[in-house]
Amino acid sequence: MDRSIDPCADFYQYSCGGWMKANPIPADQPSWDVYGKLAVENQRYLWGILGELAGRTEGRNAGQQKIGDYFAACMDEAAVERLGARPLKPYFDLINGIVSKKDLAPALAHLHLATGDSGFFFAFGSGQDFEKSTDVIAFATAGGLGLPDRDYYLKDDEKSKEIRAKYVAHVARIFELAGDEPQAALRNAGRVMEIETALARESLARADRRDPYRLFHKMDLKGLQALTPGFDWAAYLRTLGVERARTFNVTEPAFFKAFGQQVGALRLEDVRTYLRWHMASAAAPVLSSGFVNAHFEFYSKTLSGVPELKPRWKRCVSLVDSQLGEALGQEFVRRTFPPEVKERALRMTRRIEEAMRQDIEALPWMGPKTKQKALEKLRAISNKIGYPDKWRDYGPVVVKRDDFFGNVERATRFEARRDLAKIGKPLDRTEWYMTPPTVNAYFDSQLNDINFPAGVLQPPLFDPKMDDAPNYGNTGSTIGHELTHGFDDQGRKFDAQGNLRDWWTNEDNDAFTERAKCVADQYAQYTVIDDIRINSELTLGEDVADLGGIILAWMAWKAETAGKALEPRDGLTPEQRFFVGYAQWGCTNDRPDNIRLKAITDPHSPPQYRTNGLMVNLPEFEKAFSCKPGQAMVAEKRCRIW
Ligand SMILES: [Zn+2]
Repeated sequence: MDRSIDPCADFYQYSCGGWMKANPIPADQPSWDVYGKLAVENQRYLWGILGELAGRTEGRNAGQQKIGDYFAACMDEAAVERLGARPLKPYFDLINGIVSKKDLAPALAHLHLATGDSGFFFAFGSGQDFEKSTDVIAFATAGGLGLPDRDYYLKDDEKSKEIRAKYVAHVARIFELAGDEPQAALRNAGRVMEIETALARESLARADRRDPYRLFHKMDLKGLQALTPGFDWAAYLRTLGVERARTFNVTEPAFFKAFGQQVGALRLEDVRTYLRWHMASAAAPVLSSGFVNAHFEFYSKTLSGVPELKPRWKRCVSLVDSQLGEALGQEFVRRTFPPEVKERALRMTRRIEEAMRQDIEALPWMGPKTKQKALEKLRAISNKIGYPDKWRDYGPVVVKRDDFFGNVERATRFEARRDLAKIGKPLDRTEWYMTPPTVNAYFDSQLNDINFPAGVLQPPLFDPKMDDAPNYGNTGSTIGHELTHGFDDQGRKFDAQGNLRDWWTNEDNDAFTERAKCVADQYAQYTVIDDIRINSELTLGEDVADLGGIILAWMAWKAETAGKALEPRDGLTPEQRFFVGYAQWGCTNDRPDNIRLKAITDPHSPPQYRTNGLMVNLPEFEKAFSCKPGQAMVAEKRCRIW
């Protein structure tokens, strides 16, 4: 904390000033915050586990063999160096084998399977039908870009132009590393930029993609084929092994139309150039140092301002986590997540759900009909705490100690096939979309569940040795946050069964929209950096969840501690400790370039506003710190939804 600051003037600085001073951003990180620091601590712990498993070949079970040998192969940097660009050769041969337009579809399917990368024009996988959440159908999703958002291609300010110029130089650099002459590399980079810009023009803005109705366009194969006449979908599906797929959600038909036009209009040579770039770029982080460094220089240094590449062990731990995450997760959970911690987190979750029930019943602006539906949805939410009940079986993934690139390929293909295999099969409600060591949490609208991996239920976020006030302020608010996502401007469009269906009366719909507008208007005032304001249409769901989350956590904490005599500690009342506990999950140091990147891509508001933007709305905060009207942390007009 920084107690020299008046909490009523800047509560974020008051709660986090000490942390920010004591925790400068490490040279290999884009930013540094309490979550990020815990994530690195978890990684360091996993490094110990993996180092031990990599160091022996005896006495390991099947999962331990896979993660141990994967890690050993990844850490063998000399072997990776010796290979240079050679692992790209079979893929470049495949791409160079595209000699007529009809060759494109099967080649693209091979590239999608091998890389799992959405950079090759589009992404294809499985997803729940928005109208009938128990059906798993095929999803064709817009992609094809090398920059992090379509805005980078379309904005006209100096900074965007500068980044585009550096991007083209980076693409050329990768072409050179892959064997092109400098002149050809530059020419090819220009072609890539033209193709991607055309695709970006027909891509939806990030804020518009938050509206599920805009991403739901169900059609049969005929409909899909009609969008892109020159692309042979039957051949594509056959190569993927999903010719049985009958129903497709094409998330952005305008994009696929543009893709179809590109396929018709582009010269084959340019298509091959574009595919070669995305292949080399997708593989760059797992190739030799020339590729790794070039990739880092652009994607981390230029875009986020990170000075130094992460050490190899961190990159290897991350790869094991992303490719064999539930095998690694079992080892993590066994050592760090005892049943009593799970029980305590569950108890807190139930408390917060009960608070939400009471809150909904008491809402002055919602009518009885909508309330009944809201309560039904709340009751249907399932709580996933710590780790999956059933672990994923990586049996088919062959992992060899001396074949790093091959391991990456095989694990990627396994994941792509696992995802595609779900099409047309019954929905698996037990699946997790985060691995157990992850320091994060999420709500899923269609499964209607909240998910808290073991990695996020660790000190200093969730600390079983601490009293309830900071734990409810911190983790309790996060649980409330995820819960209210089911009722934010996006989540409320899905019903208790996870179907996209309007269950609101017109009056309640209007009342919600008016209250949400209060929050959107509030955050739109805040400056992120330079003259960039928060894009509060993009951050609205998160801002609404933050506000609802802390209110529910407060109610739940009051219920949990009712009748108990709570003592002040560290010179703070229990109420003050609740709020400081809240603020301290979000203490952050950040770099200007990274702040600019997040202003475009991150649906969360910057951390100072995720704290102060809530406090100004809360009479409970005003009272706890005896703030006075007119002070910065007391708003004249207060927003409240839940
Ligand atoms: Zn959220």
